[in-house]
Amino acid sequence: MNFSNKLVSWYQNNKRDLPWRNTVNPYYIWLSEIILQQTRVLQGTPYYLAFLKAFPTIEDLANASEDKVLKMWQGLGYYSRARNLHFTAKDIVNNFAGEFPKDYSKVLKLKGIGIYTAAAITSFAFDMPYAVVDGNVIRVLSRVFGLSTPFDTPVGKKKFQQLAQELLIEKDAAIYNQSIMEFGAIKCKPKSPDCSSCPMQDFCIAYITNSVAELPVKSNKIKVKNRFLHYLFIEQEDNIFLGKRKSGIWTGLYEFPFLEFLNKTEEKQVIRSNEWSRIFLNSTCEVKSVSSEFIHILSHQKIHAQFWQIKAASVVLDDYELISRNSLLEFPVSRLTEKYFETIELG
Ligand code: SF4
Repeated sequence: MNFSNKLVSWYQNNKRDLPWRNTVNPYYIWLSEIILQQTRVLQGTPYYLAFLKAFPTIEDLANASEDKVLKMWQGLGYYSRARNLHFTAKDIVNNFAGEFPKDYSKVLKLKGIGIYTAAAITSFAFDMPYAVVDGNVIRVLSRVFGLSTPFDTPVGKKKFQQLAQELLIEKDAAIYNQSIMEFGAIKCKPKSPDCSSCPMQDFCIAYITNSVAELPVKSNKIKVKNRFLHYLFIEQEDNIFLGKRKSGIWTGLYEFPFLEFLNKTEEKQVIRSNEWSRIFLNSTCEVKSVSSEFIHILSHQKIHAQFWQIKAASVVLDDYELISRNSLLEFPVSRLTEKYFETIELG
C-alpha cells in the first residue's frame, strides 16, 4: 500500500466525529474552515454550532448586522475572519443568488478565502481534485518525505503544494484531504508525534533519520512589537466613553479611548503627558484606580495594557459615545477588554 492509501485506511479507523464532517453543505464547510483557521477544534466547535443556530443559511448571515456577527465571534480573535465572512455572505447573496459558487476560481476570488480554504471547500463539498495544504499537511509531508525547504518561502510553498497535489487521490479528494489533515492533527503532531504505532514508520524519512523534531523548517521568526497602552474607562455619571475601532486588527470592535507610549511609562508621567492634557484639559477628573498590567499576545504584537478608572466631567471626545455602564457587555470587544470587564462591576 502506498502513502496515500495508507493515510485513507488509517483515517477510516481513527477519525474523530466532528460536526462539520457529516455534511457536504458548502456553507457549513466554509464556516467551519474559517473558524478553525487559527483556532483549536475544542474551542471552535461551540462557535460553529452557535453560528449555525443564529444563521442557518448564507442569507441569514448576510442579513445580520456587523455588530451581531462580531459579538458572536468575540473570544475567537483574528477578527478579520469574521468581517470577511460577513462581507462574503453578502457577496454570495448579491452576486450568486445565495448559492455558494461551485467553480474553484470563483471560490478563490471570494474575500477571506485563500488557496487552502478554496481547496478545502471545493474538495469537501463538491469532491473536486484540489489538494489542501495547511500546517498539518506541511508537517506530515515534510517529515514523511524529508522535505527540509522552509515552508514559508515562495520556493517552499510551491514545493509543498506540488507534492500535495501529486499525492492526492483525485477520485476521492474529499476523503484523502481529510485523511492527511486528521493524520497531522492527531498522529503526526507538532510535539510528541505518535511514531511508535505509526503506519508510515517504515518509510518516514524523519523517523528513519531521527530528525522528527527538526521538521518542518520555518525560515523567519515573526518580529514581535511591544505596545504600551493605557485605556481610559472614563465615567460621566453612569455612562462610559466607548468608540468603534476604524482600523487595524480590531476594526469594528468597540474600545475605550487610550493613550499609547513607546515604552513602559509610570502613572505620574502618564498624567503629565500632553496626550493626557489634551483629553482632560477643560475638565475636572479624579483617577479612581489603575489596574495592574494586562499582557495580551497577538501574532505580531505583545500588548501591555493598563486600565484607568476615571471620574470626569465635561470631557469631549469626538470619536467616542457615552454608553450606559450596564449595557457595555452588549458591544463586541476584544478579548483584552473582555478580560478587564471580568475584573470590575458593571451592573
Ligand atoms: Fe509522523 Fe512519526 Fe509517523 Fe513519521 S513516523 S509520519 S514523524 S508520526
